Amino acid sequence: MPSRRSVLQAATILPFLSGCANPLRGNSSNYSPSGLPLRRVRVSDELVIRTIAGLRPFRRSGFVVKAERMNDKMVVHNYGHGGGGITLSWGTAHLAAELASQSPHKRCAVLGAGAVGLATARLMQDRGWEVTIYSKELTPNTTSNVAGGQWSPTSVYDEGYVTPAFEAQFELAMRHAYRYYQNLVSPAYGVRWISNFLIQSEPPDPEQQDFTEKYIDMYPQHMDLTRDQHPFDADYVRHYNTMLIEPAIYLPQIMRDFYDAGGKVQIREFMDRADVLTLEEPIIINCTGLGSKKLFSDDELIPIKGQLTFVIPQEEVNYIVIGNGGLYMFPRKDGILLGGTFERNEWSLIPDPDETRRILDGHRDFFEKMDDPWA
Ligand SMILES: Cc1cc2nc3c(=O)[nH]c(=O)nc-3n(C[C@H](O)[C@H](O)[C@H](O)COP(=O)(O)OP(=O)(O)OC[C@H]3O[C@@H](n4cnc5c(N)ncnc54)[C@H](O)[C@@H]3O)c2cc1C
Repeated sequence: MPSRRSVLQAATILPFLSGCANPLRGNSSNYSPSGLPLRRVRVSDELVIRTIAGLRPFRRSGFVVKAERMNDKMVVHNYGHGGGGITLSWGTAHLAAELASQSPHKRCAVLGAGAVGLATARLMQDRGWEVTIYSKELTPNTTSNVAGGQWSPTSVYDEGYVTPAFEAQFELAMRHAYRYYQNLVSPAYGVRWISNFLIQSEPPDPEQQDFTEKYIDMYPQHMDLTRDQHPFDADYVRHYNTMLIEPAIYLPQIMRDFYDAGGKVQIREFMDRADVLTLEEPIIINCTGLGSKKLFSDDELIPIKGQLTFVIPQEEVNYIVIGNGGLYMFPRKDGILLGGTFERNEWSLIPDPDETRRILDGHRDFFEKMDDPWA
């Protein structure tokens, strides 16, 4: 019997990939399965425009979406999305909105204005609620602005630490978010579909289903490519599509949508839970990300530091590469993003020059070996 993978591979390979030479330039290996040219990323120190770092709000047992009574208020938590908060935001916002809507009220405070707070605030408005966002920082000064923006909920929990109840919540949130983001695909929101190439050092194990195989219906054009079906110097390459969300376009647009729908914003830093409970609104939705550690004494919440170096935008590059020795490349309008690092329990926001070097050298070596007939 053919393996699941070989069936997938056979079923999804397009005629385009069947080896015919392309009349434009190169051969089929120089094009994505959708027929877009795969151009080399130019990486050098002279092209670097910035290096930044951010702290992923991580809990090994996964994000928290739950309602709690505190004095005369209902507090709905929606925080702790790790490396997948952009991705999951509309999904966990939906779950939080369902909890909040069980009350008879129509007025709420949303704490935090990152991707999670903004999505939550918008969904409450869509349900006819009067919403005020309270936050110490707004875009562009949130962790959500640092995110790469690939639609894929990765580094959200540790395998073996999650409950079946969480897994069900996670899948629901993921499916909701996957569907919701498709409404936003447009230049105005900075959301688009894009080819991803996952570079693996070993052949995929047919006995083990990885994350993208488990949720294969949310990773279209999923296929393993043979050596002559891609332009990279790599033996094992997997392809699928994801959405790419550009935080510098997307977050301000959602903020504008919030204002257009009559939302109010107050800049305010809360010191502790008692401070939060002085708010007038009967329902408080907590979307403070890592801020919840101190505000609501969540000891499980830790930062995972991530560092990114950007080189100047390269319009001709229109695909994602991930998994190249732990590195990743996302082509964005505000620059070619080169990652990545995952440092647990590291609170410093100062980029580490050794990591910058590793990221730059790793990407330069990889792309120098890529076949680009247009270069
Ligand atoms: C390098 C890097 C790459 C990433 N790449 C991706 C990716 O490709 N895809 C993806 O889905 N995710 C990615 N992430 C993860 C993503 O950035 C986070 O999961 C997401 O930003 C969390 O959103 P949030 O709204 O919960 O938190 P934040 O964006 O941190 O927002 C929290 C809000 O709460 C406010 N706040 C906090 N404390 C207080 C307080 N005491 N009083 C008042 N206000 C307060 C803050 O000012 C802020 O407005 C990445 C993260 C990093 C660092």
